[in-house]
Amino acid sequence: MTDNPLHEAKIIAVANQKGGVGKTTTAINLGAALALSGQKVLVIDIDPQGNASTGLGILASQRETTTYDVLLGEAELKDAIIPSTIDNLHVAPANVELSGADAELMQSPDRAERLRAALSQELPYDYVIIDCPPSLNLLTVNALSAAGSILVPLQCEFFALEGVSQLLTTVKRIQTGLNQNLRIKGIALTMYDKRNNLSAQVAEDVRENLGDLVFKTMIPRNVRLSEAPSFAMPALIYDPDCAGSIAYQALGREILERDGVLESV
Ligand code: ATP
Ligand code: MG
Repeated sequence: MTDNPLHEAKIIAVANQKGGVGKTTTAINLGAALALSGQKVLVIDIDPQGNASTGLGILASQRETTTYDVLLGEAELKDAIIPSTIDNLHVAPANVELSGADAELMQSPDRAERLRAALSQELPYDYVIIDCPPSLNLLTVNALSAAGSILVPLQCEFFALEGVSQLLTTVKRIQTGLNQNLRIKGIALTMYDKRNNLSAQVAEDVRENLGDLVFKTMIPRNVRLSEAPSFAMPALIYDPDCAGSIAYQALGREILERDGVLESV
């Protein structure tokens, strides 16, 4: 299964079946951080909510060809790609049409490998970041089949670890079947609130359970991160100096170091 010309480890699926844990915020701002550090980045939106597309400034009227068309085999990935307002950062957008894809693909034998096939063509990117929906459905399975690694955002709250074992079981299932190359890029703790003891407790717990899989960088709870999408831009552009932007830049550096693109310090 090495038919992918992109370096496998650099296709990152941002996934967690739990809703509202920071997947899209991470996909957008990590994408922006990598692009601002000179990497060529494609963000693929495979969530029918289309939040990553909106947050990167792709208007509904621009979404003529979407990931729905790509998964259904009606368009090539390159036809869906639109440049964002940020240099080096492109988007394959989604809209609500994608919510029908699961049912429509159900009868196709290659239903779980549509995105992998779409990514097997030559594409000029260093990193591909796939923003997944809050479910372990066929869309997420497509992302995990296509990806070199999974990045799991985990919200620093009481039930953080609940659901992680189910997610890791899915990763194992994919590794033994559809995609032996799938690795865990890391777990990113999100919405960390340093004034809240529970946040610290949860972070400690997660590190105890998952050890080195957890990124050193923690993403703080920061209102600028939640405001930025309504201005259709990543927080890194909206307010580059806010705590959230600084954290996503650090996460970007950590990933570049893990990948050997940047030397670790
Ligand atoms: P879904 O499962 O619906 O796709 P998600 O996992 O993609 O959700 P986001 O959309 O990134 O999660 O975040 C959920 C909400 O929390 C959004 O309103 C977002 O702006 C906000 N948010 C995300 N991360 C942070 C943060 N670190 N600080 C403050 N608000 C945040
Ligand atoms: Mg989302």
